[in-house]
Amino acid sequence: MQMIPVAEGCTRCSALLASRHCIVHGYGSPEASVVLIGEAPGYKGGDLTGVPFTRDRSGVRLRQLLIELELSAETDPHVERPQLRCFVTNVVRCNPPSNRTPSRAEIANCQPYLWQELALLKSRIVVPMGNVATQVLFLGLKSQPAPPIRLAHAQIFSENGMSIVPMRHPARISNADLQRFVAVLRPLLQTVASS
Ligand code: URA
Repeated sequence: MQMIPVAEGCTRCSALLASRHCIVHGYGSPEASVVLIGEAPGYKGGDLTGVPFTRDRSGVRLRQLLIELELSAETDPHVERPQLRCFVTNVVRCNPPSNRTPSRAEIANCQPYLWQELALLKSRIVVPMGNVATQVLFLGLKSQPAPPIRLAHAQIFSENGMSIVPMRHPARISNADLQRFVAVLRPLLQTVASS
């Protein structure tokens, strides 16, 4: 497991600084062609373990997806820190108190870290998970607001040689939507691998 600690020692958000146990850095393979981006670490999970999408149902759901797409070396989605063939990170790197949605200011404070991370990774496929991540990615990469996630889910949006493929957040995704996403991402991964 490799972490990219772009936000090490950050003190930009007073509320998060007061409540967080740790800064949760993105992790996975820095060589990966695909990066998946969540909202913020959970208070029972990443905030305690230091690893995104741990100790909660959304993490199991996400790892099921990664296994299905052969982006994880594991076969059991309950194994929490599998070796990944992708990179997983969050828009905001500290847990917002009571798991609330991060504020606009917190998202803005944390964004330079996300762009720094994406520049280091050079992934060709970006998967924002949920509405918050999808809006941030659209405004940052396409300079326009994203369609609502129910419309953007599993659509491919091209930008500068990169494919943005939004997905409903793993905490809320149905099996049917998960399969629709797999059907779109699998061939895209193959195209990128062979190019
Ligand atoms: N855990 C994370 O790391 N990110 C989310 O968006 C949800 C849970």
